[in-house]
Amino acid sequence: MRTRCEIWAPAKLNLGLRVLGRRADGYHDILTRFVAVDLYDQLVFTRRIAGGVSLQLQVDSAGVRPGEFPLDEGNLILRAVRLVERAAGIRASLSISIRKTIPIAAGLGGGSADAAATLLAMTRLYGIDVPPRELGAWGAQLGADVRFFLGESAAMGRGRGDELTPISLFRQWWAILVTPPVFVSAGDVYGDLRLTLGAKAANFHDCRDREGFLAALRRSHNDLEAVVLRRAPEILLWQGRLREQGAAGVFVSGSGPTVFGVYMSQPSEKTVQSLRGGGTGARVEVARPVTTPLALVVQ
Ligand code: ATP
Repeated sequence: MRTRCEIWAPAKLNLGLRVLGRRADGYHDILTRFVAVDLYDQLVFTRRIAGGVSLQLQVDSAGVRPGEFPLDEGNLILRAVRLVERAAGIRASLSISIRKTIPIAAGLGGGSADAAATLLAMTRLYGIDVPPRELGAWGAQLGADVRFFLGESAAMGRGRGDELTPISLFRQWWAILVTPPVFVSAGDVYGDLRLTLGAKAANFHDCRDREGFLAALRRSHNDLEAVVLRRAPEILLWQGRLREQGAAGVFVSGSGPTVFGVYMSQPSEKTVQSLRGGGTGARVEVARPVTTPLALVVQ
């Protein structure tokens, strides 16, 4: 059995998101295209002889504000550990260290990616043989997006976003992600949503070549965007700035506040620096789609 496991957990972008209706369980049925991109949280799990489970945030984590990243049992990483302990009937002794790079509560799925990484690490470190479908079901108990990170790097999500179908995706593009320093609660965004009943699902077919991908971008839209814009109007300015740089499409990811532009050639350093300037406090990152969602770095 291994004693150490390092996993890089990527962020996700939603290339379009339609809200199809409210469900009896309080969630909404959505239709979205998830894409994993190379903005990673790096997690290192080390087994110990005894001493229970500890979680440390590395000091070089990017832009984590005090109190934003819980180190107690509320953290999705520890919740994932506890879930595996219960399901597999084990008691873990682990030291977990995370270098957090994915902006928190940003619509980028960072917490879900960390939870997925933890489920995978636990199965490796404790030799737990669990079929992928069951691991996915464990993930879905922790959050709607966790199952995506345990699967393919690009997928259509239906239901709460956890009924997944892998898609082929053209990958020769870059995204500039802008996360303004505002808090937008996902619950409030969904709560404020005025459903456009009868809205047709966008054409979310595979977009495996450049033309198909560009056509899909033109047809895609995030239904949550209008609500997010009401809560954080500065996003409108960012959308304009990303378009000025030649974006083929500009979208809010998930329930925001991250907004991203899609570019068919690599954005220049000058472009990125100009977006970073001006003291706005926004995080600006460049990312590309990846082929594996969770990267096991050290086996
Ligand atoms: P999604 O796009 O899946 O809705 P998100 O990117 O908007 O998620 P997260 O970064 O997952 O949001 O964080 C949501 C909340 O969960 C935050 O308020 C944060 O305090 C809490 N949280 C718990 N564990 C984690 C974790 N490991 N990483 C980030 N946030 C976490």
